[in-house]
Amino acid sequence: MKTKDILDIANYIVTCLNKDTISASDIEMLDDTAYSNDMCVYIENQYGYPIYSYDMMAGNGLIHGEQSTNLYIYRNAVNSSENGIYYVEVYNPKFNNNTLLFATKVKLNSGQILYIYLNTSLEPLDSTTDIIKNQLKYISFLLLILGLGISFFLAKLIATPIEKMTNSAKKLGQMDYSVKFDGRGCSETETLAETLNYASQEMGKVDTLRRDLIANISHDLRTPLTMVKAYAEMVRDLSGDNPVKRNEHIGVIIEESDRLASLVNDILDLSKLESNAMEINKTKFNISDKLCAIMERYKIIAEQKNYKFILTIDSDEEVLADEIKIDQVIYNLINNAINYCGENKTVYINQITMKDRVRIEVTDTGKGIEKDLLPLIFDRYYRAEKNKREVVGTGLGLSIVKQVLQKHDFPFGVKSEVGKGSTFWFEIYK
Ligand code: ADP
Repeated sequence: MKTKDILDIANYIVTCLNKDTISASDIEMLDDTAYSNDMCVYIENQYGYPIYSYDMMAGNGLIHGEQSTNLYIYRNAVNSSENGIYYVEVYNPKFNNNTLLFATKVKLNSGQILYIYLNTSLEPLDSTTDIIKNQLKYISFLLLILGLGISFFLAKLIATPIEKMTNSAKKLGQMDYSVKFDGRGCSETETLAETLNYASQEMGKVDTLRRDLIANISHDLRTPLTMVKAYAEMVRDLSGDNPVKRNEHIGVIIEESDRLASLVNDILDLSKLESNAMEINKTKFNISDKLCAIMERYKIIAEQKNYKFILTIDSDEEVLADEIKIDQVIYNLINNAINYCGENKTVYINQITMKDRVRIEVTDTGKGIEKDLLPLIFDRYYRAEKNKREVVGTGLGLSIVKQVLQKHDFPFGVKSEVGKGSTFWFEIYK
């Protein structure tokens, strides 16, 4: 590096001098360069006449004082070298150190030839490297200690929360969903803890749902089964010979079997939808005709049980969707409206045509749904009135609606006001 430095400096001097004559500013430049680089400079012309001299070593260097007699050797070396440059590392017995000697010649524009000699000690460099080497030992040692300290600190910062979270995860594994993950330490572990807390919360919910499911299903299955058995026994033992009674009892058995069948069907449908086993088969069909056909099927209930269905269709429209699934959605919404419409017994079905879609609304004027329950009703097995037997339902209807519409990517929702009724809506693309 030092050699390269000197070559650069020599190059610089040569470039500066490479003109007609040497001026006062050149001398200043030479002084500056020599001084700042701790370097002896000697310049002579081709006749050996000194042009410039700067002696940093008080006559003890290689180009001043006693040893300046050797200049002619360097001059010959320059002359015989190919590129006009000669440099060599020379031992200086005066200082007992190695020095770098550099010699070159430059031809000024005036034709004059100058020989430039530079001499600088390599010793300070050595001593500097020694000092740096020594310091490096301490610095390396210090850095090592510091590094160890920092890694220990970081490891603790990350490991402590991870250790805590591992313990919490073990508890979670034992189905303790109340466990809290504490990731205080660094932001990554905090995020992880938040995610795990969310996950355990969700798992807790699923667990509650699972328990509810078993309770609901066993209750829902047992009641109709008990009824079927009881009425079947009645037919066998009592009403077998009485056609009026028998038919009445068999009617109950059929009703209860229907209830069982619809429960089992709902469970099957939903599990198929959720496991993606059910494909969406989109076809074009007339939604207005569909609504009329569905209304036709509700006619019997309307007549028998005094329900009123008011269907409004603003224009005849075709849509692209899975016809059977959309059928199911409409049935589920209307069934809910019937179940929850209250005394009024009126259900409004509206088909509203929009720009690129058709909106279907099913409105009842029943008791409505409380605001904080609204986000829950589309959940599986969620039933606001769990124990009310007179309201037929499995708690699965709206989850099926949600799954089907989500699969189609159709928007849907519900507006409801307690005491006034609810409107369930969804939109089908044309
Ligand atoms: P269910 O078989 O109980 O009707 P759903 O999934 O269809 O199950 O509905 C979930 C719950 O949402 C119902 O138990 C009921 O509390 C509420 N709900 C659904 N539709 C209506 C409605 N039209 N009016 C009032 N509440 C409703």
